[in-house]
Amino acid sequence: MNQHNGPVAAESAWAAIPNPSGIRLTALQREVLMGSRLLEGIADAAVHDWLTQAPVCFLARGETLITWGSAHNTLFVLLSGELSVWLHADSAAPSQTPAEEPADALPQRKEVARIVPGESVGEQSLIDGQKPNAWAIAERDCQVLAVPAAMVWRSMQEEPKIALNLLRVLSARVRNANAGLSEAMLHQQRLAQDAETDALTGLHNRRWMDRNYPRTLRRYQSPSRPASLLMIDIDHFKRVNDEHGHPVGDLVLCHAARCIEIGLRPGDLCARYGGEEFCVLLPEVDADMATRIAQRICTTVSSAPFALPLGGGLALSVSIGVACWDQQQSLEQLLAAADGALYQAKRQGRNRVVAASD
Ligand code: GH3
Ligand code: MG
Ligand code: MG
Repeated sequence: MNQHNGPVAAESAWAAIPNPSGIRLTALQREVLMGSRLLEGIADAAVHDWLTQAPVCFLARGETLITWGSAHNTLFVLLSGELSVWLHADSAAPSQTPAEEPADALPQRKEVARIVPGESVGEQSLIDGQKPNAWAIAERDCQVLAVPAAMVWRSMQEEPKIALNLLRVLSARVRNANAGLSEAMLHQQRLAQDAETDALTGLHNRRWMDRNYPRTLRRYQSPSRPASLLMIDIDHFKRVNDEHGHPVGDLVLCHAARCIEIGLRPGDLCARYGGEEFCVLLPEVDADMATRIAQRICTTVSSAPFALPLGGGLALSVSIGVACWDQQQSLEQLLAAADGALYQAKRQGRNRVVAASD
């Protein structure tokens, strides 16, 4: 490392600054610095020290300017090149820099910003005195002005507008971070939605059912507010797979899902229970009405043959067990009642509806 011997050297943590040089700023570098957001509206004289004493660091592409957890006590202004800023999923103590991470490892790191000439890095650590919780890495060969913290504070006292500019820079950072948080929240929402959706039929899955059915039943805990459950099973579905192949079986499952959905109200809770079984929780529906709804589903499935992809039709039917919630039953008991009715429907010849009280 080319050690800088200028008057500022004694008051900064030089060991943390890569490749500092004593070279004076070129006219172009000076122009970039004075045009930076941090020094907007500031006279050269107010940052005379920055211009004459702060060293310029040179970083080759891939070199690290700021290391996670390593104090630098310096404000860096990029004069040329490009820096990337990286966060790590494990905010406690990431052991590797982004570049050291094995390519096949689960991505633990995320690039959160690109820094272009005239922008700065290291302001947060400068202000709160904490160690950095991100990396800044050279994406291209870079020239960076390293302004020691003490020099920054001194300039601020003489020219408070630098502090105001710094607040503006930080405010933009916070806004940017908030936008990132919102994006992460949206992503998390989508993941949660995916985890509760059956990928094949697009219906909700068992997990969603387990979360939402009990909640709905609790809302209907009053004799004047009935609720009923349908347990729907495709008849002889194994034969579909055996005779036409699994992919056709999948299409039949989707077709059945659409036949079920088509006759439901927006508030009805339809889900794929598993395999070729579906459940529908019908709020505000008593046993008679639930039986009529189930009958309608039965008829929809059996009234028209399923169109096979290679031509021809396939007769389908479903059996449905109906159970009206008695206000005391747990979800498991209600499911068992509907399943018992479904079993009876199968025994009685399939393609039919049986209500649990029958
Ligand atoms: P029953 O009339 O008594 O209900 O007879 P079944 O043949 O419909 O019932 P069974 O339980 O014997 O067979 C269900 C079949 O559903 C067995 C399983 O391989 C198939 N299956 C379960 N999930 C899927 C799936 O996602 N796709 C396809 N294609 N088949 C599935
Ligand atoms: Mg079954
Ligand atoms: Mg079946």
